[in-house]
Amino acid sequence: MADEPVEPGISLQRSRNMAAIRGRDTAPERRVRSLLHQLGYRFRLHRRDLPGSPDIVLPRHHTVVFVHGCFWHRHPGCRYTTTPRTRSAFWETKFRQNMERDARQQDELRAAGWTVVVVWECELREINVLTARLRTIGRCGTLPDDEVTESGTGSSGVNTVP
Ligand SMILES: [Zn+2]
Repeated sequence: MADEPVEPGISLQRSRNMAAIRGRDTAPERRVRSLLHQLGYRFRLHRRDLPGSPDIVLPRHHTVVFVHGCFWHRHPGCRYTTTPRTRSAFWETKFRQNMERDARQQDELRAAGWTVVVVWECELREINVLTARLRTIGRCGTLPDDEVTESGTGSSGVNTVP
């Protein structure tokens, strides 16, 4: 896909392009899924009925996981969070919009009772640390299974029965 210059201004159409840029089923996302699987979590992917269509959803723990590229999502203080030298005003606008959208989606999810976990792509470089962090999902405030309600469809992705 040609990376034609786009103007700041950007709306729904552009948002969809951003989703494409961000990618689905990226290698980092697959890696995180694999880790969660090893840790025994059950999850669903890309729930489109939730704000931001989270990459990974753990219904039992009422937790969503986003796997964020450091560059696009502006990991604070990260060395991969670089800014291209050319057209810097354009990039800054784009980055700001990404960050605002992330914040808005996460606010909406939290307001709906979800715990939001963001895994930064660079964290995959220290897998032990990341594994320890993922292991804490659901450790505090876990609801009894029969209180876990799942809004949304009953598609057969995940068996939540113990
Ligand atoms: Zn990072």
